[in-house]
Amino acid sequence: MYAPRLEVHTRMLTENARRLSAFCASRRTELVFVTKGFCAQTDVIRAVRAGGIDRFADSRMENIMAAKRAVPDLWYLLIRVPAAEEAEEVVRWADASVQSQIETIRVISDEALRQGRVHPILLMLDVGDLREGVFGEEQLREIAPQIKACPGVELVGLGTNVGCYGSVLPSVENMGALVRARDLLNGEWGFQIRTLSAGGTCCLKLLEDGTMPEGVNQLRVGEAVMCGEDTTGHRFLEGCHPDAFQIAAQVVELRRKPSVPIGELGRDGSGERPVYPDRGVRLRAVCALGKQDVDWGALTPLLPGAVVIGASSDHLLVDVEDCGVRPGDWLRFRCGYMAILHAATSPYVKFSVIP
Ligand SMILES: *Cc1c(COP(=O)(O)O)cnc(C)c1O
Repeated sequence: MYAPRLEVHTRMLTENARRLSAFCASRRTELVFVTKGFCAQTDVIRAVRAGGIDRFADSRMENIMAAKRAVPDLWYLLIRVPAAEEAEEVVRWADASVQSQIETIRVISDEALRQGRVHPILLMLDVGDLREGVFGEEQLREIAPQIKACPGVELVGLGTNVGCYGSVLPSVENMGALVRARDLLNGEWGFQIRTLSAGGTCCLKLLEDGTMPEGVNQLRVGEAVMCGEDTTGHRFLEGCHPDAFQIAAQVVELRRKPSVPIGELGRDGSGERPVYPDRGVRLRAVCALGKQDVDWGALTPLLPGAVVIGASSDHLLVDVEDCGVRPGDWLRFRCGYMAILHAATSPYVKFSVIP
């Protein structure tokens, strides 16, 4: 079978989960594992549960519904601000959801009453990453009484996100915004906000340093458990396996070639002008894996000496000089977060579970 495989090594995942959930517990913080990076695949969910994680979050209702159908007693938080059209499913399937738009909150509230429930929500605060969330005290004061007037929802928490769109790092100051907003809302409007939720993985740093403001008691992390890595903070996490997710791709051509393209150079298939360092004539493997399957920049070869040199839509080029590779061999690569995300959603990549 020549199709590339996304391999999930469940023992390593269980160990990552055990380490990180114990660490968060020791800091009296609840770890919520974000499953969007691998489409909430249930083998992964089972593996991290074996390591002590029992709270989950996803950005897509499709993932939450599929996971809960397969493993009925899962607790799931929806972490993408939903559209009003999703209200029926959000109330039925999500145990809580993040919100930031009053029009949607009203629809969710009405739908919850229709289903005879009260739906718990976390209000997102934008502390500078400039993605979702209420921005600044004026907007907070505007939305608070409007939420109070929605009897079908209960504001149980506040959330914030850093290190995503805006690449903003977590700090005592921006995490402290959660605490200040909680005190304002509980004090002036009588809310009973208990959960202060931070994310993503880069927020672990404040817990490690002991500088996370008192009261921030939930951390939403995906990358740390999946990859043992903090991309925003640019570091690997001590004691975690970085290669729990691997891609295996087959070598379909093996030839010696120069390392600089020959002829007048225009742009490559993506409209870019890459630089081609001259490493002389090298043994080059062409693998049956490309941009349609994976974010190739997030791959690291596990074969010592091998170097990924580029990719097109269907081919990955790897320098394998002195690596002892033969045609038909399978090369393995460690996957960073974006490689997993793309591979998990590519119809061409086979998902494979390794105990
Ligand atoms: C994706 C996401 C996370 C997890 O981020 P990681 O960096 O993978 O840990 C947390 N919170 C929200 C809202 C997200 O969208």
